[in-house]
Amino acid sequence: MSLTLRRFNSLIEYAWHPDYKSVYHIMAMGIRKDGTVVFSNNGAAVFPPADKLIVKIAHAEQRISRKLDKGAEVYVVRLTRDKQLAMARPCSTCYTVLRARGVKRVYYSIAPGEYGVLEF
Ligand SMILES: [Zn+2]
Repeated sequence: MSLTLRRFNSLIEYAWHPDYKSVYHIMAMGIRKDGTVVFSNNGAAVFPPADKLIVKIAHAEQRISRKLDKGAEVYVVRLTRDKQLAMARPCSTCYTVLRARGVKRVYYSIAPGEYGVLEF
């Protein structure tokens, strides 16, 4: 099994949880140039002050971009409630953010057993 596929499989195990309330769960894994592995999922970003919370829903790719360095690789999976892979191609905003960050390559799930690649 290739390194890319092994990384996808470990991300699927890391991302999946049986108690998801939402229809889909999206998680991104980044491999920095030095080999450090970082994760982010889709979710709310909360900004202080606490009495005037501003909550923005951010895509996993945008959230992980802050943890990446130039030359990093990113893996993105979208999982259904029954642990099936679904389309996780980054949207145009995430594409722009990842590219600006200097990310080298993005692998994303398309369907069970099907993956796509974006090269920057
Ligand atoms: Zn996006």
